[in-house]
Amino acid sequence: MPTFFLDGKEIEFTPGQTIIQAAKNAGIEIAHFCWHPGLSVAGNCRVCLVEVEKAPKGMIACATQATEGMVVYANSPKAVHMRNAVMEFLLINHPLDCPICDEAGECKLQDYAYKYSVGKSRFDEEKVHKDKRIELGPNVMLDQERCICCSRCVRYCEEVVKNPQLTFVNRTEKVAIETFPGKQLDNPYSMNVIEICPVGALTSRDYRFKARVWDMSQTKSICIGCARGCNDVIWVRDNIIKRLTPRENMDVNEYWMCDYGRLNTFKFVNNEETRVNNPMMREEGIDSDGAGLKPVEWDDAIARIISEFKNYRADEIGFIASPYSTLEDNYVLQRFAKEIIGTENIVYLPHIEGEDDNLLLRADKTPNSTGLKHLCINPIDAKFIDKLLNKQIKMIYILNDSLSGLERTEEISKAIEVAVLQTSNFYEMSHKASVILPASTYAEINGTFINFQNRIQRIRPAVAPLEVERLPGDFSVSRLDKFGSHNDKWTKGTRFNSRPAWKVISQIAHVFGSSFDYENTEDVFDEIAVKVPVFAGMSYEMIGEQGMLVGTGETITA
Ligand code: SF4
Ligand code: SF4
Repeated sequence: MPTFFLDGKEIEFTPGQTIIQAAKNAGIEIAHFCWHPGLSVAGNCRVCLVEVEKAPKGMIACATQATEGMVVYANSPKAVHMRNAVMEFLLINHPLDCPICDEAGECKLQDYAYKYSVGKSRFDEEKVHKDKRIELGPNVMLDQERCICCSRCVRYCEEVVKNPQLTFVNRTEKVAIETFPGKQLDNPYSMNVIEICPVGALTSRDYRFKARVWDMSQTKSICIGCARGCNDVIWVRDNIIKRLTPRENMDVNEYWMCDYGRLNTFKFVNNEETRVNNPMMREEGIDSDGAGLKPVEWDDAIARIISEFKNYRADEIGFIASPYSTLEDNYVLQRFAKEIIGTENIVYLPHIEGEDDNLLLRADKTPNSTGLKHLCINPIDAKFIDKLLNKQIKMIYILNDSLSGLERTEEISKAIEVAVLQTSNFYEMSHKASVILPASTYAEINGTFINFQNRIQRIRPAVAPLEVERLPGDFSVSRLDKFGSHNDKWTKGTRFNSRPAWKVISQIAHVFGSSFDYENTEDVFDEIAVKVPVFAGMSYEMIGEQGMLVGTGETITA
């Protein structure tokens, strides 16, 4: 492999790579604002100027190709001087409102100002003022004064979403970002401009002023909004999820996620009004408009479920597995249905809406239908529905789903004699249940989902219910944790009385005298790896942070 020298260090590169790319691959960051690995090169911010031996003037590292034996300095006195000069220009008209800016703590301009600026301004004149608090679209707010005109947001709309909605207007120091006349920034992927904006010019209307980044913990997770399974980060303060942001995975979502996934897949976790916060049981003889459901202890709810199971023959009991739930939850449910109850009546409800788009969004709005296929759990069919309508199946156990998407739901729910729901939130059918067991959400547990590409990916607990499971490496820390954080997510805030579904099902199995001996979710996965051939040899460690393809042994490390 050819090499060049950066500040005396020999760096390998592939022909065609620029200095900034090769340095990045070697783990060295050269300061940059306008360059982004997912966008074309614009070369307009100039902060990546480096000194190249034998070149008469500074070269921008983002647009200069590395060549064999080239000698580059990013930290020589000349390179430092060039960077300082660029920073001085960029800061002349910047409002320097970091104390009230949402970007503070994750702002490249702020970081580089600390790192590379001289610390004082020679500019005494009045700064140029521009418009502030402009609603660019339903989800993004613009502060024109903070913009450093890097053009990342413009290029993103043109090149990634292929929907040009942003442009520059005016010239010189009056230049500003605007939407094209009559347009809004309202594409389904509009919120990615918030992260690619290197400063606080573009902020989230949903998240604005909700927390400072250093007050939050960050947990690597997976979006549950569709079968893509975009890699994301869950940001939590005081046990409440504040926002989701995309996490780079070049095989799944590159650097992006959609606005739907960002905004619609975490608020139900925080929602104290709709979360099931205790096991609930309908008292005998009270029919249901919901009033008959009473909070009870876990042991009482489990005892009631067991007595209901005993009232029916195996073929009169049905199970609804869930493509919203983890592989581990579904595996344990299936094992329970087959081994303890002795029924093959187990299906799941597909949730297909619309069509796949040409970027990320999938028509399958669930994160784990591929996982169910690997467990050989089939989608619900006419035969199963007939059994429900004809009262051949009289008792139904529903994991983390609702029958409300089915045709003839009303008839089906009337035909069912006993329904047990294991769910995190109440929904329309909940009042018809005999027993409701509060299930932990995807943001509170460990587990795995398999996306439409057949890639298995891990989720981890980001918020803590009363019973939280922590596996090695699960701790996600905020910056302040290092100094004794006031953001202890394991003790602060509301903690729902929910449990992982596999754990509750295992408890029920124990009462039936069976040994479902799992101490934690990883034990369940290890059993799956032994019993389901397609997962042979896999482990949580191998899946890591970027997932691996099921059945191929391919691992991609972070
Ligand atoms: S708004 Fe942000 S991303 Fe867009 S040009 Fe300005 S600084 Fe760059
Ligand atoms: S594309 Fe799907 S997985 Fe990705 S963020 Fe959107 S809803 Fe979530």
